[in-house]
Amino acid sequence: MGSKDEWDYSIQNGPSTWVTKFPMAAGSRQSPVNIETKRAESDHEALSSKPLRWKYPATASRKLVNPGYCWRVDTAGEGTFLSGGPLMDDVYKLEQYHCHWGCSDSRGSEHTVDGQAFAGELHLVHWNTSKYKTFGEAAKASDGLAVLGVFLKVGKTHEEMDKIARLLPYVSHKDEVVEITEPIDPGKLLPDDNGYWTYLGSLTTPPCNESVTWILFKKYIEVSHHQLNIFRNLRKFPRGEECPCHENHGAVINNFRPPMPLGNRVLRECGSF
Ligand SMILES: [Zn+2]
Repeated sequence: MGSKDEWDYSIQNGPSTWVTKFPMAAGSRQSPVNIETKRAESDHEALSSKPLRWKYPATASRKLVNPGYCWRVDTAGEGTFLSGGPLMDDVYKLEQYHCHWGCSDSRGSEHTVDGQAFAGELHLVHWNTSKYKTFGEAAKASDGLAVLGVFLKVGKTHEEMDKIARLLPYVSHKDEVVEITEPIDPGKLLPDDNGYWTYLGSLTTPPCNESVTWILFKKYIEVSHHQLNIFRNLRKFPRGEECPCHENHGAVINNFRPPMPLGNRVLRECGSF
């Protein structure tokens, strides 16, 4: 065991060990971070002169995947659109969206707000089609990716999220994939208020490329405890294989990287909420 590029969230291969295999994880522009709300600079004119705008056709959600460490929806980028705010006039397309969560409802988000964690965090991953030809090329560039982050709080059942939750039993094991036939609109997974924090950071999973403009919505969305439990039922090993880990029956839980130092990076905010 322990192939060269193996990583996960365990003690042996978890976030504190990533730097040994993925040098970029040791950089000074890493994510997630703790959002110190008092430190946020509200340069309203710079950000609100070009409001953040997005468009997602519900048909863009194509496949639901269990990569062994989260659930992920792969999208068809055509027709999707994200621009404005810190992205200025560059046009970004949606590549995929995925989620992070905890073993209990009191933890699970990657970013924290004034030290407080949420039950989960949804990431919509976009790439800069104005400057780059492929997602892979964009992922290596400092302005190549933009991720919309949405905090999940335990409350009432989320209707759009339930479409995903209902499909998750079909991808309960690692490497399983299911085609999405009922339209799932990622726009309906965003909160009803557009206020956000933004800073320059990285992918939160190896190789931790420092290519992400983070846009974190201040307002959370609600999902039910039951929906989170469905997430926690995913397994990190393939069907038919014996569970390699005696811990938690190989459940995908606590798939979040702890906050990294913000250092001298600027944290900006737009919108009040
Ligand atoms: Zn993520």
